[in-house]
Amino acid sequence: MRVLYDRDADRDFIKSKKVAIAGYGSQGRAHALNLRDSGVEVVVGGRPGASLDKAKADKFKTMSIADAARLADVISMGLPDELQGDVYDAEIAPHLKKGSTLVFAHGFAVHYQVIKPRADLDIILVAPEGPAHQLRSEFERGSGLLCLLAVQQDATGQAKKLGLSYASAIGCGRSGIMESTFREETETDLFGEGVVLCGGQANLIRAAYETLVEAGYEPEMAYFECLHQVKLLAELIYEGGIAGMNEKISNTAEWGEYVVGPRIVNDAVKAEMKRVLADIQSGKFARGWMAENKAGQKKLTAMRSRAAKHPIEDVGQRLRAMMPWLSKKE
Ligand code: NDP
Ligand code: MG
Repeated sequence: MRVLYDRDADRDFIKSKKVAIAGYGSQGRAHALNLRDSGVEVVVGGRPGASLDKAKADKFKTMSIADAARLADVISMGLPDELQGDVYDAEIAPHLKKGSTLVFAHGFAVHYQVIKPRADLDIILVAPEGPAHQLRSEFERGSGLLCLLAVQQDATGQAKKLGLSYASAIGCGRSGIMESTFREETETDLFGEGVVLCGGQANLIRAAYETLVEAGYEPEMAYFECLHQVKLLAELIYEGGIAGMNEKISNTAEWGEYVVGPRIVNDAVKAEMKRVLADIQSGKFARGWMAENKAGQKKLTAMRSRAAKHPIEDVGQRLRAMMPWLSKKE
């Protein structure tokens, strides 16, 4: 992948633009604060409520998204992916000046054509590789998160220049801005969430917990061994890769990794991963998710409540209450 840095960016370019952040949630707030601290003129667009109050408390000029769109040269989408299409159609597209830029932190809405952007707009992706709070905290430390940069539509001929300047202003040029595409970012993101980070991990933990408890072991033991310790191992992997983890764990644990692991994640599992990827690539997964939103998220609500009632949550709550360093956060 090609990597770009602050030295490749024209920081003054974004300073010559009026930037509006639509939505003041996790990403929106971090982008707004970093941009302002980099000397960029920023306003926040949103609906009346907690988010907009927070933006006011952070001393931003706030307004409706429609007013922000009227005013802005650059509008950055800090709205939930599944709502971006409706908000774009109703409040952004009718008001944006010709040749303005839309910035996305995730490619979903554009890649799956939930948003069909006006032809005169520049459409760019600046996707930080990490959670929003860290985008802010690394920036405050004088560092920055890595990010992906992609251009989907370049009506003005300056889309990439603007994207680089924006990415630099939120701090990403200090560590590295990697060139990608909306397709690559969106499809790998959905795959990673479903297969490993959220879907794979949660289901692996629950199935392993159930197996131990059904075999008569104490739920507390099952919780510790199959869930609690995930953090420790994830941190080792985060810091040193799988090889780094292997250097730190016992030989017995490593032996289990090699002889048990492939029995769990076997050829059938990998074949299913390929089918999941095909659904993501064809747009089937995205169509399913958008249809679920149209239907009022009924299935999501039902599955969420079933997951919350799993016995592992009860045990977990009791055990975490015994760990004062955790109960403070909860
Ligand atoms: P959040 O859920 O944290 O924030 C969403 C914001 O949108 C809130 O301020 C909410 O305000 C506002 N909002 C919701 N609905 C409407 C509406 N109909 N009209 C006006 N405002 C509305 O979102 P995220 O920051 O998590 O996600 C934003 C984007 O960033 C997404 O594209 C996501 O994929 C991407 N992203 C997020 C990451 C993260 O760390 N969270 C990491 C990488 C990318 P209100 O309080 O009024 O509901
Ligand atoms: Mg991602």
